Amino acid sequence: MFKAIFAALTAMTLGSSALAQADKTDAPRWSIAIHGGAGTINREQITPEQDRTIRSVLAKALAAGSQILEDGGTAIDAITATIMILEDDPNFNAGKGAVFTWDRTNQLDSSIMDGSDLSAGAVAGINGTKNPILLARAVKDHSPHVMLSGEGANQFSREQQLDQVSSDYYATPYRLQQIEDLLAEKVSAADVDYKFGTVGAVARDSQGHMAAGTSTGGMTGKRWGRIGDSPIIGAGTYADDRSCAISATGSGEYFIRLGVAHEICTRIRMRLPEAIREAQRAVPKNADGNDSYVIHASEFRLSDAEVQQIADDVIAELGALGGDGGIIYATPWGQAGYSFNTPGMYRGRATSEGQQSVSIYGDEE
Ligand code: ASP
Repeated sequence: MFKAIFAALTAMTLGSSALAQADKTDAPRWSIAIHGGAGTINREQITPEQDRTIRSVLAKALAAGSQILEDGGTAIDAITATIMILEDDPNFNAGKGAVFTWDRTNQLDSSIMDGSDLSAGAVAGINGTKNPILLARAVKDHSPHVMLSGEGANQFSREQQLDQVSSDYYATPYRLQQIEDLLAEKVSAADVDYKFGTVGAVARDSQGHMAAGTSTGGMTGKRWGRIGDSPIIGAGTYADDRSCAISATGSGEYFIRLGVAHEICTRIRMRLPEAIREAQRAVPKNADGNDSYVIHASEFRLSDAEVQQIADDVIAELGALGGDGGIIYATPWGQAGYSFNTPGMYRGRATSEGQQSVSIYGDEE
């Protein structure tokens, strides 16, 4: 019944392409999307071996999150486990493999949000913690605060008995070379970071709860305690059971200025009652001139096309402002997807209905 009502209403309000989509889609019980950064990622710049390595790590992270969701676990647990795998992998700019600051140190940022109660935790400019996402989560779960920074956050991490690492743990030869090149002025900061390697995950679990998380080393050569969007709730990360879960990657200053993650969720949340009203107007009248049925929010969802359009609109505004990058999204209706304005984005998505893909370049699914 729900499917029939939805399909009919979608057809009336959005046209026949949306109808086709609604007809073949049973709302997934769970869904997950992940990213490992966006940027100038094209086939000329990536060796076949790098391509294979990145895809296999993304697939491993996606599989770990999917398994938790398939077993009935929570969205927040799924994204935490997924992000830890990407943090531990040296190919990404998070945890091991984080970029270096101007002072040749690593200052990591991370955030996490649970859409079921809007609880959130974030850390900025930290080091010493093996998995910054666990520290963000500890802030959320075990402190009265949302955001901790620097030495205080490091101290909180030790008090929480999270795994500690020495300051050279994060370093890789590739990241060291990047900072040396930048400091020798061989390349500008923009060139060095044209391939952002921040990681993130968003999910909807089988209870209908949403979660989002992001982890990064920030921008190569950052100075003066610069903090990007990744640890900022509403900019790089947001989750709300009523609308969506978002994790971003790209030129953080622009994501902060637009409040990208919150903006997308807000547009989805505000669009919903409007779309229901439109659909209600299309409901056939009965003999006495009244609507033959009343649409309830619980039997209505935005179509894939409409969610994608909202995400694309916000990323277009980001681009117009001068920002590069992208986001991943999950919705309460089981959709999982991406929007980005760069040539590529390391990404993957999976749903309980068997959809599963890992992609790198812009022309892939
Ligand atoms: N958004 C991050 C920042 O500005 C960088 C990235 O996504 O790689 O710190």
